[in-house]
Amino acid sequence: MTTHVINNRRVAGASGECIDVLDPSDGQVFAQIARGTAHDIGVAVAAARRAADGGAWSRLAPVERGRLLRKLGDAIAAHHDELALLEQRDCGKPVKQARADATACARYFEFYSGACDKLHGDTIPYTPGFAVMTWYEPHGVTGHIIPWNYPMQIFGRSVGGALAAGNACVVKPAEDACLSLLRIAELAAECGFPEGALNIVTGYGHEAGQALADAPGIDHISFTGSARVGTIIAQSAAKRHVQVTLELGGKSPHIVFADADLDAALPVIINAIVQNAGQTCSAGSRLLVQASVYERVLAAVGERIATLRVGPAAMDLDVGPLIRASQLERVRAFLAPYRQGGAAGRLVAQGRIVPEAPAGGFYAAPTLIADVAADAPLACDEVFGPVLAAMPFSDEADAVRLANVTDYGLVAGVWTENGGRGLRMARALKSGQVFVNNYGAGGGVELPFGGVKSSGYGREKGFEALYGFSVMKTVVVRYGGQ
Ligand code: NAP
Ligand code: MG
Repeated sequence: MTTHVINNRRVAGASGECIDVLDPSDGQVFAQIARGTAHDIGVAVAAARRAADGGAWSRLAPVERGRLLRKLGDAIAAHHDELALLEQRDCGKPVKQARADATACARYFEFYSGACDKLHGDTIPYTPGFAVMTWYEPHGVTGHIIPWNYPMQIFGRSVGGALAAGNACVVKPAEDACLSLLRIAELAAECGFPEGALNIVTGYGHEAGQALADAPGIDHISFTGSARVGTIIAQSAAKRHVQVTLELGGKSPHIVFADADLDAALPVIINAIVQNAGQTCSAGSRLLVQASVYERVLAAVGERIATLRVGPAAMDLDVGPLIRASQLERVRAFLAPYRQGGAAGRLVAQGRIVPEAPAGGFYAAPTLIADVAADAPLACDEVFGPVLAAMPFSDEADAVRLANVTDYGLVAGVWTENGGRGLRMARALKSGQVFVNNYGAGGGVELPFGGVKSSGYGREKGFEALYGFSVMKTVVVRYGGQ
């Protein structure tokens, strides 16, 4: 059984119970992880507290902290293939995607390693005889709850930023996707991270995850996951007045105007919904197209979707399996009304599951549905599968209205050759990120990322994340005289 990593050591859970780990490509059990309890979380939080409160981690100069982060980034890069293979098996990621995730994870540590000694405060002109300065200090111990869709990437961006700011971390990965992160924690120990700086406890969300959110020794929580669980986490944190970063879901639109460069737009639009089998918070899951080119765009997108092939991760096709059976059921439930003709809308195109795909795997064919009603679940709710919902709009105002109508506001893509319109749209869209004539939240560790509305609050990625992982202290010194 794979165990937790606490204080740089592999630790078996107190309960001795474990959870089966499935390979989404064939649905078979291939490993087991520890089923963490509140007790295990308590042990990890205590370890992190010792590291943060005067322990070796807290005494490191920022430049030394940066060197350790850099070492870990290099170690992740050096173990790239091993980590990618773990992620491929654990999450059903096609080879290229798994490798891209390992590369991105290393890149986060590289980026944040250089930021450790550049997070500085300010001095403030005040009354004569006073000196005022602001300091950024770590919260202390940060808790990180990670989803299964991009474990390595989200670990890198969240834990990388928190460590850079000087916090000690306790991480609870999703029970479906732990293996790569446990290996990275081992690598951190080998790199010389002080005990307690980075701890990982595996287990179920409602057990270990909830215990982490409720743990009295946690000073800040970074949660990435669904809006439903985000609410639970925020409520837990509110009881103890602990700050939270919520990176939640999305229903992100691509907005295609008649003057768009379609040759440039189409491959990006397809990739944004099929990447990671659509299980991406920033998936471009809505396609809003100006009426005059609507049918032309539908035909072109449909043609490409029909060529896509779905199969086992190791075959490295266009699309791999979904994470688990319940996710496949969820995708099917969204599509059922369109298959049965019960909902307004038409099924334009679907990709193909290859015959080599094992029957026990969790495969969903990429699907394009057109004329989806703006208030239909498929237009408003996050599917988290490779399903693209298209609808026409008349003009800029109509596009803004449709784009902003959902509860979410994570990412938006605007396709137009009119520069002024691109900027007007960027201003009008209620979204944490707006891409004009490109799209892709995954790229760019430098780019602050996060949502508005039900997509959450706070920002990760980029230098901006370091402010969220720090507390500002204002120091006022009266020195007298003039
Ligand atoms: P989820 O069900 O909300 O789970 C997210 C994490 O929370 C998992 O580690 C889960 O553990 C844990 N959890 C569940 N219940 C909990 C509780 N009561 N207390 C504490 N932790 C709990 O989401 P998911 O299905 O894993 O991930 C998909 C969602 O994440 C989508 O909505 C997606 O949009 C969002 N997401 C957002 C971003 C972003 O940056 N904005 C990035 C990626 C994903 P278990 O899985 O072990 O139960
Ligand atoms: Mg798995």
